[in-house]
Amino acid sequence: MRIAIAGFQHETNTFAPKPTKYDDFVMTDSWPGMLHGDMVMSETRGMNLPITGAINSAEAFTDHHQDRGQDRCIDLIPLLWCSAEPGGYVSDDAFDRIASMICDGILASGQIDGIYLDLHGAMVTASHFDGEGELLRRIRAVIGDNIPIAVSLDLHANVTHEMVNYANLITIYRTYPHLDMAATGGRAMDGLLDILSDAEISHAFRQIPFLIPLPAQYTGADPCLSIYKHMSQISSDRGAFVEWAMGFSASDIPDCGPSVLAYAPSSERADAMVADICDRIMAAEADFDPMLIDPEPAVQIALNSSSDNPGAKPVVLADVQDNPGAGGSGDTAGLLKALYHAGAEGVVCGIISDPDFTQMAHQAGIGAHIKAGLGGKSGVADDTPFEAEFIIHALHDGIFTYTGEMYGGGIAEIGDSCLVSPVGAADIKIVVSTYRTQCLDQCFFTSFGIDLTATRIIALKSTVHFRADFESLASQIIHVAAPGLFECRLERLPYQHLRGGMRWGK
Ligand SMILES: [Zn+2]
Repeated sequence: MRIAIAGFQHETNTFAPKPTKYDDFVMTDSWPGMLHGDMVMSETRGMNLPITGAINSAEAFTDHHQDRGQDRCIDLIPLLWCSAEPGGYVSDDAFDRIASMICDGILASGQIDGIYLDLHGAMVTASHFDGEGELLRRIRAVIGDNIPIAVSLDLHANVTHEMVNYANLITIYRTYPHLDMAATGGRAMDGLLDILSDAEISHAFRQIPFLIPLPAQYTGADPCLSIYKHMSQISSDRGAFVEWAMGFSASDIPDCGPSVLAYAPSSERADAMVADICDRIMAAEADFDPMLIDPEPAVQIALNSSSDNPGAKPVVLADVQDNPGAGGSGDTAGLLKALYHAGAEGVVCGIISDPDFTQMAHQAGIGAHIKAGLGGKSGVADDTPFEAEFIIHALHDGIFTYTGEMYGGGIAEIGDSCLVSPVGAADIKIVVSTYRTQCLDQCFFTSFGIDLTATRIIALKSTVHFRADFESLASQIIHVAAPGLFECRLERLPYQHLRGGMRWGK
């Protein structure tokens, strides 16, 4: 069997002003840059990526049959894989070029039996609310209706009827932090192989009429934990399973929001699984609380906690609204200012993305002082640079090796970076980078020689992913509502395109 595989991932924050362009899909960040042909296989091997899991599943299928002397095997035809850091809508140029490369690659592959796609599910383009639906429509126009397509999506997908109808099977991450990306790709490939073995499959799909703020989507605690546990209890490994996308609230589109999808041998079973999970989500509506606290009181809670319990584990202040992984600029200074003005000590803070600042620091050198505004340069409402004189403690080439579970072993390329402190507040250490990236891994601090267990406050720009690597270090985690392009108080967002009947915010 010949199966074409491709990936095209973007999570679009339609409230972020800067469009996402073709070059953003080409560059390397926390994930590889744009990969073509065989590079799709070689450069993703060993990573926690959906396409890696899909490739592993296909290879396991071939090995299984060859071990038994059967000549059933899968020939994978890798076409293209790319992703861009979450941000503003995807330009028509980027979308059309990449969609064409995938469609042309399929056409050039000759006879194929199936297609696997590694997509996010919250891509909005300049011309299409539903980027993935449009991509699938274009692929169907090339291959017709008879070749099965399996897709894996992010837990933050805003799943549409078009996606469900064009794809034969969709799987969705079940963890946030996303520890199961490769497993989700593997499940999609297994499902595709079952379809190719003539398994009967029906589906059911339903959208939920309210938005869930991302800080409340953490799957390590209720209400999400119990619902996912129940999902796994009513799903079998293969052939009958239910998936839940919690949605990405910063995509202002009619299909924004959570949805539930099930596949089973009979439509009755798929319907029953979807109804069961939807009932549980609906019943938990009031429990999806983002638990946000303004910067000054949040800092005060952290200071009181560390003075009441000397020697205790540090408090993590999560700057949840300036998460580059959700389209944040990664440069707002609100939380940093609150820490500085409160006279906090034992603080590490990161990652603030500021290319001008890092360039100045690299020119000045270690030990030098520079007077500069740090961050606050992206025009985010209520945000301005943090003006101070800084001492430069360390410089870094910006190539970090992840050590945490989510991306462990992978490389982040975030450009020239540095570690600085405001003069007179040497116990506030700030990691500054050239390119924006989510602070979800301890490596961004430990690579500078920082012992995180000896700190009192860790202030980081991430919404939930940081929990995978920082939760065990922390005595307490506080969600801080400082300025950012990823507004988590949903009632403040100027939505224009949500479908009728949607509820959001308090
Ligand atoms: Zn996600």
